[in-house]
Amino acid sequence: MDGEADSTTILVSDGCGPLLVDTLGQLKPLRQRVFEYVRAQSSAARSDISRALEISPGSATTLTADLIRAGLLREMAETERDQTRGRPRVALEIVPDAGFVIGIKLGDGVHTAVLADFSGAMVSNASMTVSRAVRPVTQMLDDVEALMTLLLEKAGRGMEHVRGIGIGMAGLIDHTHGLVRWSPLLEARDQPFGAAAETRFARPVVLENDANMLTLAELWFGSGRAKSDFAVVTIENGVGMGLVLNNELYRGSFGMGLELGHTKVQMEGALCRCGQRGCLEAYISDYALVREGATALNLSLDQNVNARAVLETLFKEASAGNPAAEKIFKRAGRFLALGLSNVVHLFDPALIILSGKRMTYDFMYAGEVLTDVQQLTLSRGQMPCQVEIHPHADLDWARGATARALAQVTDMMFTAEAAG
Ligand SMILES: [Zn+2]
Repeated sequence: MDGEADSTTILVSDGCGPLLVDTLGQLKPLRQRVFEYVRAQSSAARSDISRALEISPGSATTLTADLIRAGLLREMAETERDQTRGRPRVALEIVPDAGFVIGIKLGDGVHTAVLADFSGAMVSNASMTVSRAVRPVTQMLDDVEALMTLLLEKAGRGMEHVRGIGIGMAGLIDHTHGLVRWSPLLEARDQPFGAAAETRFARPVVLENDANMLTLAELWFGSGRAKSDFAVVTIENGVGMGLVLNNELYRGSFGMGLELGHTKVQMEGALCRCGQRGCLEAYISDYALVREGATALNLSLDQNVNARAVLETLFKEASAGNPAAEKIFKRAGRFLALGLSNVVHLFDPALIILSGKRMTYDFMYAGEVLTDVQQLTLSRGQMPCQVEIHPHADLDWARGATARALAQVTDMMFTAEAAG
């Protein structure tokens, strides 16, 4: 059914955006830093801005006056008395309808979209069921257009209010050039998807690997807001990873890094969707479990058998103590632990967030996975980093895409100003 997305979101915060400033952030124009500080705090008085950004009270007043004139900030109606001086402390906030962005998660089966205002708040959301078949770029853009139309209709807004679009999809994405090197959703390799979308929608479009979008969701709205180094590992119909190092999303040189799902855990092992063998994904992703489940439960995997149903049955059987089904989950759990311990050894993150729809009913091996990670890691007998399990809905991934679009639109806005 097309319409509202699954609206359970665990991303709840006051304000949005990273709370720690990265190295690049220090180089941004001061006006942008003031704007982003207020957005991150949800609201801030001039004295807070002056203290946080280490600028004089006079500069804070001038800069905020500029931003108010530009229609980006406004004074909040409610004021509180400054305890020490007795003067009213007027808090400032972002003008939410100064602009809107759309964030989209493209999936195999469901596409999800979120409309966010300039403060980062979600205004509306929509989802659309689609066929699982791979498609050419033009057809995928038809999907995107239909979904955006649905989204904007629900919000009572038009495309003229939208200043930028963020799109996340599985695969190898070159975000700087908007190229999809490979995606399980698209028919061909090396597709200039970003440029095609910009031409079609006449808006800046940013493209990211979907795991990066979810990582941004955690960095902007979730547990990662105040963490300088953390990793997100997603297990769905594929295994993805996102990484924040020094408060910044890490992408590697060619935007092809962090493909945890395609790191090899077995020479000449199980066949992966990518065509190679022995990838982690071929042991722990949904399709790998479905493949094993269909064999163990003696189901023929033809068009009539729904993969999701096989997974559900497999899980029910395992919960009921069916040893064959149990073994499949346990084996997947051990491979997941292997992957996670490699992440710990490579990056030493303070936090690993495990995510994916399957996590909603994966009580079975979560504890065992953590014990296995510990055993596989040189960790002096204790868990080397915090591990949290966040059963994110598609909506959260799409919110991450709004964060990416907001960051892009904000950068463009202030850079254009600085140049002009
Ligand atoms: Zn692979």
